[in-house]
Amino acid sequence: MRVAVVGGGLAGLAAALELVERGHAVTLLEARPTLGGAVQTLPEREGDPPPPPDNGQHIALGCFEEYLRFLDRIGEGRSYRRQRLSLPVIGEDAGVGAISRSPLSILRYRHLPARERLAVVRVLLALRRAGADDGETFGALLRRLGASDLQIDRFWDVFVRPALNLRADEASAAMGVFTVRTALLGKAAAADVILPAMPLGAMHGEAAGRALEAAGATVCRGRRVESLDEIDADAIVVAVPAAESARLLAEPEPALEPSPIVSVHLLFDRPLLRSPLAALLGSPAHWVFDRGALTGHPPEQGQYLTVVASGVPELLEIRGKALVELMADELTGRLGRAELLWSRVSREPNATVALRPGTQKERRGPVTDRPNVVRAGAWTDTGWPATMEGAVRSGLAAARTIGAMQAGRA
Ligand SMILES: Cc1cc2nc3c(=O)[nH]c(=O)nc-3n(C[C@H](O)[C@H](O)[C@H](O)COP(=O)(O)OP(=O)(O)OC[C@H]3O[C@@H](n4cnc5c(N)ncnc54)[C@H](O)[C@@H]3O)c2cc1C
Repeated sequence: MRVAVVGGGLAGLAAALELVERGHAVTLLEARPTLGGAVQTLPEREGDPPPPPDNGQHIALGCFEEYLRFLDRIGEGRSYRRQRLSLPVIGEDAGVGAISRSPLSILRYRHLPARERLAVVRVLLALRRAGADDGETFGALLRRLGASDLQIDRFWDVFVRPALNLRADEASAAMGVFTVRTALLGKAAAADVILPAMPLGAMHGEAAGRALEAAGATVCRGRRVESLDEIDADAIVVAVPAAESARLLAEPEPALEPSPIVSVHLLFDRPLLRSPLAALLGSPAHWVFDRGALTGHPPEQGQYLTVVASGVPELLEIRGKALVELMADELTGRLGRAELLWSRVSREPNATVALRPGTQKERRGPVTDRPNVVRAGAWTDTGWPATMEGAVRSGLAAARTIGAMQAGRA
């Protein structure tokens, strides 16, 4: 069959790769000049240190099995670092605790009083069996199981916020429970932290484009689809964000709000961070990454850091210089004095959909009202949060749906 894929983010790329490998004649249509969608390297600017800054640090977990298989398929299975979950958490007093999946490590977590640590372990174990309702927040469920505000703030949010791009008090309980069960309560390797070691654009969009073309697909960059009627194909995969998907399919727009991610890249004249990554408690700088060390390109002098703030729309309103000062001060205030040599800001207002209570019913599956059109995207009904894994899974589901349509017709 001749299949057109609209959208060259991870969902569209995964669908296209699967379809071309199943023997279909695939054409991928992507509006931007680059592939990869939400997983991008920023356009180069004079004075940028190597490696070029990304639109935002991306982290995967060991349980992102389809995403990792996708990287293997496009020849990028060696472009990331994999480490056991042990996340340094830096407190207001600059003391460092760590979150890992073992209950013993939680009992040593220095950012909570001893009796609260025990309660965290109890709640963690209770989450194995707790019923998860999409109608309440994860925070409400945690409290019903006995968690205190302090535990939510100083333990659960550290883990939940980067995974769901929302705080526990904003995220759907169903998504919170899924995340904890899949990552923290699954096999040990499921919680492994996967960190890109290459610029995101090179190891996703560029590599996938090469793999698709080598497999015989046609890849059209800079080609925005205004209407599905302009496409001449036997089947179409619509792999674009929710609002655009609804427009192209002439459907009501799903009630899914966006949740932003703000990233600030900072080059300091001396090292500040002693680990490749760390969370900061009580700070708008939620996470900080040593980009130089993670990519194997430490600067000749100083340290190249990326600060990430997830799900805080107010930060979008702060102008670039003030945002840089805010984040740089957060780091130097806690980690020591240093001079800032260079900086760059990346704002992604629509980084993910906000999977708040009641959003499950808004996430549509691959099947559409049109007989030859299927849907994909991290926002769709994958069972996963809006992550890279969800995006790849949605693309594979779309390709399988097309396979089933073809089998049904034969
Ligand atoms: C800064 C940031 C940090 C993130 N961090 C993480 C993380 O740590 N871990 C994680 O798992 N996930 C993370 N995510 C989320 C993850 O990147 C996304 O969920 C995922 O990449 C979405 O893929 P997608 O293919 O569904 O959608 P998109 O990536 O949005 O792709 C859709 C594509 O469709 C194209 N398009 C739209 N309309 C049209 C049209 N009419 N015609 C043609 N093309 C069109 C767009 O240009 C885009 O390329 C992050 C996202 C951001 C922005």
